[in-house]
Amino acid sequence: MIVTIDGPVATGKSTVAKKVAERLGYIHFDTGAIYRCVTAFCLKHKIPYQNLTILNEALKDFTFEIVLKNGIKHYFVDGEDVTDHIRGEAVTKEVSHVSAIKLVREKLVSWQREWAKKEGNAVFEGRDLGSIVFPKAELKIYLTGSDEVRSLRRYNEMVQKFPEKTFTLPGVLSDLRERDYLDMTRTVSPLIKAEDAVEIDTSSLTADQVVDQIVDLAHARGAKDR
Ligand code: C5P
Repeated sequence: MIVTIDGPVATGKSTVAKKVAERLGYIHFDTGAIYRCVTAFCLKHKIPYQNLTILNEALKDFTFEIVLKNGIKHYFVDGEDVTDHIRGEAVTKEVSHVSAIKLVREKLVSWQREWAKKEGNAVFEGRDLGSIVFPKAELKIYLTGSDEVRSLRRYNEMVQKFPEKTFTLPGVLSDLRERDYLDMTRTVSPLIKAEDAVEIDTSSLTADQVVDQIVDLAHARGAKDR
């Protein structure tokens, strides 16, 4: 069974998708991390990604790897561990621009479909999984949340991840809104709720409550626990 979880920034997609996958014994794919890896690659090699000929050539050298270390996924680009770097400001600022490019999406979507074919059972999270990548997924979830709750979540996450940096709530809120705006208004695969997706407002729910709801829905559609 393929379970897709889409939604805007800081709706808890990663936390929830990871836990749902654990409960069902499925593989978990964080597709946003891969868009972030491509963005880190473009920034590192100073690729003028608006030039599609240059970008197409450059992407032929893009290699990345996911390595599990003590139960935590580590992302490698060009053999370098970029796990923390891809969550930092530079990549976060640029990622919605890189992921709006059709060429980038075509490559990544085709990989995602290959992984799904190989795994059979998986939880995929991102922005276009239910609408474009897996239109026939057995279970599609669309997570939402109020701007206030989402910005507080993202603020706490950033403070914990980068204690040496200074963040402000209004700054985090404005970055979050800008990224959502770019993701929702791009021409290629904008963030939308698939017609047959189940919407869950996470504003006043704990991650475990959201996980329970999704696992119940997966069971109702035939999934078994691990
Ligand atoms: O999920 P995360 O916030 O890490 O995603 C980073 C960015 O990657 C998103 O803001 C979006 O621009 C892009 N993305 C996408 N399609 C996906 C997953 C992520 O365009 N399926």
